[in-house]
Amino acid sequence: MHFDLITIFPDFFTSVFEFGILKRARLAGLVNIATHDLRSFTKDRHRTVDDRPFGGGEGMILKPKPIYDAVNSLGITRKGERDPQQETVILLSAQGRPFTQAIAHELASINRVVLICGRYEGVDERVSELICDRELSIGDYVLSGGELGAAVIVDAVVRLLPGALGHPDSSRFESFGAHEVVEEPSADGPPRTTHGAGGLLDYPHYTRPAEFEGAMVPDVLQGGNHDVIRLWRRKMALKKTKTNRPDLLEGAELNEQDRRLLREVEAEERIKPQELE
Ligand code: SAM
Repeated sequence: MHFDLITIFPDFFTSVFEFGILKRARLAGLVNIATHDLRSFTKDRHRTVDDRPFGGGEGMILKPKPIYDAVNSLGITRKGERDPQQETVILLSAQGRPFTQAIAHELASINRVVLICGRYEGVDERVSELICDRELSIGDYVLSGGELGAAVIVDAVVRLLPGALGHPDSSRFESFGAHEVVEEPSADGPPRTTHGAGGLLDYPHYTRPAEFEGAMVPDVLQGGNHDVIRLWRRKMALKKTKTNRPDLLEGAELNEQDRRLLREVEAEERIKPQELE
């Protein structure tokens, strides 16, 4: 897989991809990440990439021509003629569609992804119209530039590439995992390290020591009964999702056991903490 990042701050990415999974994936040849300085595609002495907005108003806008030239220099097929499995061009934008794990999976199957990082007040709209296949936002907040967003997208996508993680299941049984990989409660062997698949958030994790500052690891995790641990993890994934992201529960694939566990969670919530003691 190949990423091209178009930015006015190429040095921003100098160390971002130098750690952990991303570094290993690069060194193993699973992914190649190239940065391109937008200013190299200007023709004037001041290497101007921005200009004042038509209609007036605050701030400066990234001009379309340097971005157009930068994308063309990569040999990318014209918009509308691209093979969506081969290449795609994406504009980072607060006005874009939300970037999700599902989109990360989609991008991980494309050979070449070009990410255009905006700056200032934004990017001339014709960049989106004429060059980009889509606009993506990494969240409902405004960043100063698209570079952090691009780094987020690269990170989320690269860890999904076959061979990037130590264990392939790690990216299947985790928060926002795909529905079809929900592990059956009756599965043999020790429970997976992560088990919050099926559109839910992951369950809580613990490691040694068993007691920390008076807080204990739940007994069930120390008991060694795989079926009980599986059930507890599923219940905790449901509970965490209900608490932090109730919107995800609506789209999650819940079976009869899940609904029973959720009823248990709700019943426990109705009981006052002192009554549980
Ligand atoms: N005027 C724009 C607006 O209100 O939507 C904000 C422009 S922002 C200061 C400059 C650049 O940062 C954008 O062009 C975009 O590339 C990037 N950016 C800002 N917020 C972002 C977000 N939530 N997701 C992705 N990129 C973002």
